Amino acid sequence: MREFGLKLIANLPDALEQRNTSLDRKQCVRLRHRRSTCSRCADACPTHAISWRDELEIDPGKCIDCGICAAVCPTGAWEAHAPTNAELLGQIKSRLIEGRPILFACSHCLETLSLSSADILPVQCLGRLDESIFVGAVVMGAQAVTLLDGACADCPHSAGRAIAGQMMQRANALLASFGAPGRITLDPRRVVPEALQPRPAKPEGGLSRRDLFKFLTGRAIKTTAITVNSVLGDEDPSAQKEARPFTGPLPAQVPPKRRFLFAALRRLGQPVETQWKDGIWAQFMVTEKCSGCQMCAFFCPTGALMKTEQAGKLGVTFNLASCIDCRLCQEICYRHGVTLSPGVDLQKVVSNEVDTFWMADTQSAAWNTSLQARFEKPIPSSCEKNK
Ligand code: SF4
Ligand code: SF4
Repeated sequence: MREFGLKLIANLPDALEQRNTSLDRKQCVRLRHRRSTCSRCADACPTHAISWRDELEIDPGKCIDCGICAAVCPTGAWEAHAPTNAELLGQIKSRLIEGRPILFACSHCLETLSLSSADILPVQCLGRLDESIFVGAVVMGAQAVTLLDGACADCPHSAGRAIAGQMMQRANALLASFGAPGRITLDPRRVVPEALQPRPAKPEGGLSRRDLFKFLTGRAIKTTAITVNSVLGDEDPSAQKEARPFTGPLPAQVPPKRRFLFAALRRLGQPVETQWKDGIWAQFMVTEKCSGCQMCAFFCPTGALMKTEQAGKLGVTFNLASCIDCRLCQEICYRHGVTLSPGVDLQKVVSNEVDTFWMADTQSAAWNTSLQARFEKPIPSSCEKNK
């Protein structure tokens, strides 16, 4: 079977050392199975540093460390660091305790408006922020979350603003579904709000990209042990989806950003509007074409689908809350026996419900095993967490 892998187009040791995003290729659905058509990271990358041909190709020389790939990647294969989502939520929590506003600005905005990093939450690009940050901030008590986009119009990578806008809209819609007012806004002002007037400690001429990186890294070092529990309070034991057992040879985990979102939604209580059609999750179903090979559960990157067997029947269990709408289960089913519906029940999400789909009898088991061995694509450990 053909190996799909990771290719670094340029060999730039310095660039690699300073990367602020990493790739865990075991979690990438496209590297897990060649029938996946996911290209969300490459499509969103504003500098075309990521591309897909036979392999995932990354050009570190083009990468500007914006973190957009991490925001759009459903599986968490791409992860932004310094700060991570957990660290950002920790910073938000500290600011709320100090009574400070939650204002995000990018490095470009900081340079253009000569802002002080003390009054804003700096990120490389607004497009690096996802729903878990926005909903988490509101759940922790933020009355308003503002994205300062005063510099986006002049930015050569303004695609990040559009992605930030989509994430913001989705977060506001999610909050509305739980009866909470949408409090996340994009602020296009070019005038520096009074609360953001530069402070004496700011570097001359605003923060340079290097200063920003140092600032972000420094914050990260101080906030290393942040967990769902420490930021959003006690997590229900049934919500510890990272600990769900997985017996197959491929690892499976719910991305941290999704665990934060799940914990935040649970703290909002019960949804007032249960129907949701705007992505994030998808409802799994099987059709009569399903042969019971359980391949969908074998490759599912989060463990949302898991194999089950009872009384001579084979099937899969499906946990909607763990589904990330990556569509791998549907794409790999060679019999077109899987349907994924964008319409999901938010009540099922927050109650962490598990459905069971019975597929075939156990006589197919031997055939299943040989089929899985044929399709399995080992991933060399030497390529993990590498970019
Ligand atoms: S799973 Fe993530 S890393 Fe893989 S192709 Fe999709 S967006 Fe890119
Ligand atoms: S159930 Fe399907 S769409 Fe959902 S995470 Fe698993 S493979 Fe992806």
